[in-house]
Amino acid sequence: MDSDFENRIVTPGYSPEDVDLETSLRPKCLYDYIGQDKVKDNLSVYIEAARNRGECLDHVLLYGPPGLGKTTLAGIIANEMGVNFRVTSGPAIEKPGDLAALLTNLNEGDVLFIDEIHRLRRSVEEVLYPAMEDNALDIIIGKGPSARSIRLDLPKFTLVGATTRAGQLSAPLRDRFGVILRLELYTPDELAKIVTRSAGILDIDVDAQGAREIASRSRGTPRIANRLLKRARDFAQVIGGGVITVDNAKMALEKMEIDPLGLDNIDRLLLMSMIRNYNGGPVGLETIAATIGEEAITIEDVYEPYLLQLGFISKTPRGRVVTPAGFRHMGMEMPGQQSMI
Ligand code: ADP
Repeated sequence: MDSDFENRIVTPGYSPEDVDLETSLRPKCLYDYIGQDKVKDNLSVYIEAARNRGECLDHVLLYGPPGLGKTTLAGIIANEMGVNFRVTSGPAIEKPGDLAALLTNLNEGDVLFIDEIHRLRRSVEEVLYPAMEDNALDIIIGKGPSARSIRLDLPKFTLVGATTRAGQLSAPLRDRFGVILRLELYTPDELAKIVTRSAGILDIDVDAQGAREIASRSRGTPRIANRLLKRARDFAQVIGGGVITVDNAKMALEKMEIDPLGLDNIDRLLLMSMIRNYNGGPVGLETIAATIGEEAITIEDVYEPYLLQLGFISKTPRGRVVTPAGFRHMGMEMPGQQSMI
């Protein structure tokens, strides 16, 4: 797909150019994992308790928008528990047999990470239930009236599921997770720490204000912060004397058309079309999607969380609404709020 979304520098989704970047930058232990204090506090207790008892950690469900560190956290869990980390994703497991093969190849205690777990097929999901609950695999042998089911024992393991949409998980699957943790968008302070840490690893010269400038335009998302840092380095190297200062960062971000709050041209298009075409709403998600030529699901997962966090839009039972702050950011006046002068 060659949509604007795919080419968007601030897309929080994973893009192929992130491969090297992400492997080198992923924190390996909870101590290096910046922010998400509530999640970290709880998780460290669960990990320590499980370790002390010599048991596996309970199954963990992580949810929140893309790029916030779900995969990273799953890897950290495996690392802190001192076990292997196996990675797969909902769409990659096509048949129940694929999952059965994965499960039978696990070692005792391993962490199996299933990204986008809401996209598991129903038939595959059903294999997971006894595996999660009883460490067992039910296999049907034969067909028709002579078919019978045999039960195989599996090693004990921890399933870590990640999803951007917890609401789409079936209730039986959700209920089998003992620990459910929600990741939040990061604050600019936390992102500035992440930018500084990443710059140290990548040997990039960035000063405190430069890091802060990148952080405040990264939509609360570490993956975007790391990507912007890399691009800002290019600009600083070629036209800014090598160091990412606040001025160099501003110049680079302007060239990338990312505004001071981290909105790009697609966010602005979204807000503007809600304002121009629908007087700021309320307008339904599907209608917005059709107007700007994006999928509703992309708008919900990718654009909205940040616009909601900024308080530029709000959700009402009748649809989405642009708030007064959203109008102001776009330099527009809210209908019915014209100045009296
Ligand atoms: P998700 O699985 O939620 O899409 P990832 O775990 O792949 O997100 O994180 C994307 C990148 O952001 C990682 O490469 C990692 O370097 C960085 N990152 C995420 N969370 C943190 C954090 N808390 N501290 C430092 N870096 C982080």
